[in-house]
Amino acid sequence: MGNKTFPRGGGHIPHRKDATKNKPVMAMPAPQQAVIPLSQHAGAPCRPVVKVGGRVKLGQKIGEAEQYVSAPVHASVSGEVVEITERPLLDGTKSMCVIIENDGLDEAEPLVAQDYSRLSVSQIAELIREAGVVGLGGAGFPTHVKVEPPKPVDTVLINGAECEPYLTCDHRLMLEQPHKLIEGLKILMQAVGARQGIIGVEVNKPEVIRVLEQACAEQSYVRVAGLKVKYPQGAEKQLIKAILGREVPSGGLPADVGCIVQNVQTAVAVTDAVVHGVGLYQRVITVAGAAVYDPRNVLVRIGTPIRDVIDFCGGMGNPAAIIAGGPMTGQLVQDLTAPVVKPLSGILVLSKDEISYELNQPCIRCARCIDHCPMGLQPNFLADWSNKGLYDQAERNHIMDCIECSLCSYVCPAKRGLCRSIQAGKQVVRAGKTAV
Ligand code: SF4
Ligand code: SF4
Repeated sequence: MGNKTFPRGGGHIPHRKDATKNKPVMAMPAPQQAVIPLSQHAGAPCRPVVKVGGRVKLGQKIGEAEQYVSAPVHASVSGEVVEITERPLLDGTKSMCVIIENDGLDEAEPLVAQDYSRLSVSQIAELIREAGVVGLGGAGFPTHVKVEPPKPVDTVLINGAECEPYLTCDHRLMLEQPHKLIEGLKILMQAVGARQGIIGVEVNKPEVIRVLEQACAEQSYVRVAGLKVKYPQGAEKQLIKAILGREVPSGGLPADVGCIVQNVQTAVAVTDAVVHGVGLYQRVITVAGAAVYDPRNVLVRIGTPIRDVIDFCGGMGNPAAIIAGGPMTGQLVQDLTAPVVKPLSGILVLSKDEISYELNQPCIRCARCIDHCPMGLQPNFLADWSNKGLYDQAERNHIMDCIECSLCSYVCPAKRGLCRSIQAGKQVVRAGKTAV
């Protein structure tokens, strides 16, 4: 077992995973009303294909993707469509949503398992697309696009690093559903014509590594790679460098170096999609933080209000902040009525002791942000140029290579909001390119 990592930058941050990592995933009841956003992925929103007053079955497609970079959405309960209207999302923005009154029956089409070994690349991609599978690690990028890479691919990597503090949903899935994960990996390998599949897991999860090694013992072309515990080990470019020693070029894609990367839960969803034809209507999320009474991993239907999920976990005390996703790359939850969406990996209900506020004190030129940046950037300067509107200078100095890991902000003794400034600068640079 190796102990691989990326060579440049990175850092060690507290894991805070003990409260949930040993608790089996628990399914929570479906919501009384499911609020299913028609936009919960990277790319174009869906068009509703149901009408108010119509009945839907569990797993039925209710939103159709009309563009290539998009993904259909499915009913997460059976019942009646009572409204199609705008509702708030986690970040406070609004999206059109299909609202279904749950009849409590979970009426669904019968499942039929199919042998995928003879399916063509395009047939697998179509099944993944039809099921609405997207990157479940947080990015929400449609998976069918990734399985049709622009260049030949020899390796599929599964990102089992889960390097964000608190989050343990992938940890639990790897322990509880190793065979389904490996099946998903094999389907992805078949889809892209890869000759090897590798699951990268940080070595602080020895029981996961053991279980996965046992599960893939018979498969010579699938293996587990032990990774050093270092943030952001699970970032795509860092994972590729650590496991394969390949460097994705600036502005490039993993396919440029012959691989694709998928999240653990995405691979499990691929198995459901291709073997069983099941639309993606539920996922596992971690609910953790000192201000939630019973932290755990929950199997939750898409469209369940965040408040219901927290209530299922015993409710909350007096949180200082509620974060969607991990603490390093997540975002503040603005509305507790907002629904769970496909890319949501965690809900963190944090006490004031768990939060470090940005103070934006003067830079003391200590270079800690530079030393830790995994992309070899100069976060202090990039943030300054963004704040001053010097976007050309920021672009010339590779602001678009920033992977928004927040490590620079985390290590800065002046508590400067470096990553936030850089994100804002990137948006302007991206918008400028789009406008041209
Ligand atoms: S947020 Fe960007 S600039 Fe900051 S450490 Fe991460 S990659 Fe580097
Ligand atoms: S870590 Fe903070 S204080 Fe140190 S150089 Fe970077 S921005 Fe300045």
